[in-house]
Amino acid sequence: MDRVTSSYSADSAQSVAPVSQTLFTRAAAVTPGGVNSPVRAFGAVGGTPRFMVSGAGPYLTDADGREYVDLVCSWGPMILGHSHPAVLDAVRAAVERGTSFGTPTPGEVELAEELVARVAPVERVRLVSSGTEATMSAIRLARGFTGRAKVIKFAGCYHGHVDALLAAAGSGVATFGLPDTPGVTGAQAGETVVLPYNDLAAVRAAFEANPGEIACVITEAVPGNMGVVPPAPGFNQGLKDLCAQHGALLISDEVMTGFRVSGAGWFGIEGVVPDLITFGKVMGGGFPAAAFGGRADVMDRLAPAGPVYQAGTLSGNPVATAAGLAQLRLLDAAAYARLDATSAELRGLASRALAKEGVAHTVSAAGNMFSIFFTADEVTDFAGAKKQDTFRYTAFFHAMLEHGVYLPPSAFEAWFVSTAHDERALERIAAALPAAASAAARAVA
Ligand code: PLP
Repeated sequence: MDRVTSSYSADSAQSVAPVSQTLFTRAAAVTPGGVNSPVRAFGAVGGTPRFMVSGAGPYLTDADGREYVDLVCSWGPMILGHSHPAVLDAVRAAVERGTSFGTPTPGEVELAEELVARVAPVERVRLVSSGTEATMSAIRLARGFTGRAKVIKFAGCYHGHVDALLAAAGSGVATFGLPDTPGVTGAQAGETVVLPYNDLAAVRAAFEANPGEIACVITEAVPGNMGVVPPAPGFNQGLKDLCAQHGALLISDEVMTGFRVSGAGWFGIEGVVPDLITFGKVMGGGFPAAAFGGRADVMDRLAPAGPVYQAGTLSGNPVATAAGLAQLRLLDAAAYARLDATSAELRGLASRALAKEGVAHTVSAAGNMFSIFFTADEVTDFAGAKKQDTFRYTAFFHAMLEHGVYLPPSAFEAWFVSTAHDERALERIAAALPAAASAAARAVA
């Protein structure tokens, strides 16, 4: 898509965030673009990224001493809010025992048992350090298991910065208007078949056009990287059936949805049984921990049980596993009920504020994950997501920021709530919304 144009003036941002601006200038001298993950640079919305120094419950505090209600939650992991006492205690206790051993540890057995107990299709699981590693390894395993090369993915789905999966990859790539990324070879991209989301007929046709060649279909359980776009009823089951029919594996990427939308992720809500599932974000409690797992006969092809190689110096790190376990153990039915209620209240608040100003929008939700598209049309795929008025989101985002609410700095991202978002936090969001809705209404392309 075209580079997003922003009517926002970077100069006005500098005047309200001098320390962040100084840090950004210093960062840009030593780090490409001044950030360690592109979306943090505010490229889509303009202005100065806020450098955060602390987080407590639903709040973040930036280097200029300004507090924000956080609706990004570290892009999902901080489901209990920031600095949750039980997570911090577990981390402190783990750190006291040592930070990395390069050996098996009891904590990784406990975390693996917790994942297996929660998500029925996961019979075996391997711990890794990032969602990217999880999807990359799952794809390798699917290729090793099937002896086939090709992968089907969907436009707008993001599965991390895996070479073969950086085609039509949603938010980060959409934000920067890069249709492909230099550095990914034609050969790597050539083995990826990119199809429109929610289009089973296209999947059927792709299987027919590539007989015996498709190793796997990888899909976000619910896409959250083009904004939130729920799967149409029967879509995920249809993928499973087509995979089974053609001898391919279905990989459900639950890096974002896993342990967020229910105790067993999107699987817990929809019940479609994939062959492999990937996890990250929530299961690490704010530390680098992720995983992939699934059918025992497939997982047992991994080294050292089988021939497909996969490894990691810090895989199953004792501090990360302690944080993840502490967080997961607090995520009971009451926690998910609270997250669902908070999300519903927030969706209603935002939608009413936008409607009052006559701003065309669609609230798109799956469980407690949601985003707001600045278009009146229901969004079912990436092409639909790109039709929204991103310039209105830019205005909305900056007005919210000025009023102390930190939203995702891109119109193509999910909004995240935590169990720590209480009435006070919601009141602060409600107070910020009228000015932001008005700014969205007045925005010009
Ligand atoms: N898969 C999905 C669905 C994601 O949303 C992400 C990250 O946002 C990833 C994979 C990659 O995870 P990570 O950023 O930990 O590499």
